[in-house]
Amino acid sequence: MTRIDPSQLPVSQERRLGRYSGESPGPTVICVGGLHGDEPAAQLALRRVFAKLEEARPAFNGELVAFAGNLQALRRRSRYVSCDLNRIWLSARTSDLERALFDDAVPEFADAEDEEQWELFTQLDGAIRRARGEVYFLDLHTSSAHGEPFVCIGDTLRNRAFALNFPVPVILGLEECIDGSLL
Ligand SMILES: [Zn+2]
Repeated sequence: MTRIDPSQLPVSQERRLGRYSGESPGPTVICVGGLHGDEPAAQLALRRVFAKLEEARPAFNGELVAFAGNLQALRRRSRYVSCDLNRIWLSARTSDLERALFDDAVPEFADAEDEEQWELFTQLDGAIRRARGEVYFLDLHTSSAHGEPFVCIGDTLRNRAFALNFPVPVILGLEECIDGSLL
């Protein structure tokens, strides 16, 4: 297996990595890649998926949309700028963001991740509002350990049914060890 140096992977300049939708209603699948700036593989993989879709133009029900996670950290090729963007989705904070969105206001940004979180939040909100069916969310990461790919889920029956579509192991309980993750 060829090992790829992640620092050599091209990084998106855009928050939105792609959007592909069909005329007919159907599920919305939202993906985020690169919530950690030192994990650029997912945003590249997602852009490749959209390039293939644009090339083949298959008939499609619903919508597939993907966003870059921590754009500033991806550009710096560092995990984060000031704090981990995958630890700040706490309910007190997201309530503030919801309120700001409702008031059509932009909240104060204390650091780079506040700004990243707000941009991502507004994009996710827009995708959820456009949905004409069930919404599914995938947050794609690169594992620091060697091994096969795996899926972590919040353990509900609905999430289990979705996760079992993927031909990879499903790890339960990991989400309980991490506070403030986007998932
Ligand atoms: Zn990560």
